[in-house]
Amino acid sequence: MTIDSATSARTLRLQVENVIEETSDAVTLVLSTPDTDRPAPFDYRPGQFLTLEIPHEEDRSVARCYSLSSSPDCDDRPAISVKRTPGGYASNWLCDNAAVGLTLSALRPAGSFVPSRWDKPLVLVAAGSGITPVLSTLKTALAVHHERAC
Ligand SMILES: Cc1cc2nc3c(=O)[nH]c(=O)nc-3n(C[C@H](O)[C@H](O)[C@H](O)COP(=O)(O)OP(=O)(O)OC[C@H]3O[C@@H](n4cnc5c(N)ncnc54)[C@H](O)[C@@H]3O)c2cc1C
Repeated sequence: MTIDSATSARTLRLQVENVIEETSDAVTLVLSTPDTDRPAPFDYRPGQFLTLEIPHEEDRSVARCYSLSSSPDCDDRPAISVKRTPGGYASNWLCDNAAVGLTLSALRPAGSFVPSRWDKPLVLVAAGSGITPVLSTLKTALAVHHERAC
């Protein structure tokens, strides 16, 4: 899959602004869009994901989805958190190669794993890298819908 590197209605060019080593096998990549000066470079809802184009020597690139672990209501910049999959290509490539200044192409945020309403109690269950959309939802729920700090 090749994502057009120019920003378009469906695609984004992302730049890594910060790399946070969360654990020995997981990193958070804080992202910006170098083609815009907006502080919040794109709109997204808690629970949505980006589809990243990861360079690959033989296939040119591969596409993988990563949920936004940041909250659009709490965090200045969007972020994804990637956990190494043993034997996996893209997750290990990102953990090994993501550095400040790296640019990647992506499809704009997608997905409907978003609470349909916020005025009812939420029960959130997650395991492994599945924590990422839940973290975004939890931060948003606490900050915006219970008037607590992020
Ligand atoms: C909507 C969505 C959101 C996601 N959000 C996140 C997230 O926030 N964070 C996160 O870390 N992940 C997330 N994922 C998972 C992510 O998209 C990738 O699937 C994950 O990183 C593994 O990709 P990989 O390229 O590293 O592994 P792959 O290269 O796809 O390999 C996956 C597994 O298959 C095995 N394998 C590969 N090729 C073969 C073969 N030929 N024969 C046998 N076995 C093989 C590998 O050893 C590995 O165990 C999400 C997925 C989806 C669909």
